[in-house]
Amino acid sequence: MRPQRVLLTNDDGVDSPGLLYLESALQAEGLDVMTVAPRFEQSAQSHAITLRRPIRVRRVHSYRVSVDGTPADCVLLALFALMEEPPDLVISGINHEYNLGEDVFYSGTVAAAREAAIYGIPAIAVSMERTGPPYHYETAWQVLKKLMEIPGSRETFLFLNVNVPNQPPENLRGIRWTRLGTRVYQNPVQHHPDGTYTIAGTPSWNHENGVDLEAVLQGYASVTPLSLDLTDHERLEQYRRTYAF
Ligand code: MN
Repeated sequence: MRPQRVLLTNDDGVDSPGLLYLESALQAEGLDVMTVAPRFEQSAQSHAITLRRPIRVRRVHSYRVSVDGTPADCVLLALFALMEEPPDLVISGINHEYNLGEDVFYSGTVAAAREAAIYGIPAIAVSMERTGPPYHYETAWQVLKKLMEIPGSRETFLFLNVNVPNQPPENLRGIRWTRLGTRVYQNPVQHHPDGTYTIAGTPSWNHENGVDLEAVLQGYASVTPLSLDLTDHERLEQYRRTYAF
């Protein structure tokens, strides 16, 4: 991959320590980094874009812009207005909690990477276990560096979802290629005496070999290649064969 120009974003907000850690690490590596990130936390905003009001931006630094919008807004503004040349790679994170299994549908971190992938730009969403402080961002950075060192074309690494246990680098057991696992929320909606509701709940997970959750539980960083095509190809063929209209 070996990028030169990197766009950095997230969903935790422009002041998030995970984002600022990556910004410095990428700069120290000699890369040309532009950070375009939401002014306020946008976790669980998924792939929302802002259509019904103007979006304000504030240049915090020559290389850092704060956006009064969503993670997907940030990527769109960066690609089509703020960056003079398109980036070779978009990195979203380091998110302040894992994004495993179905989390990828809700996550603003993953959506920012997906937005870049829609425009054909390689993108990596990176998330870390929320067990700190302390947070061992250097572990996530070492995983990212390994991924960036893999030679290959843009198409080879279009869209990756990375999850890293919050362990010092020497305790990380390695990196595993995984597929998305499956999570089931028990009682995701709570009804309160005052008539209001909250959405929360504790996820339980299906434990299967080869899935993202299993890798991080075993102390590995998990890397899942994601695709933009949500078509269920197996069923499509089955339905085509079975139901001829
Ligand atoms: Mn977040």
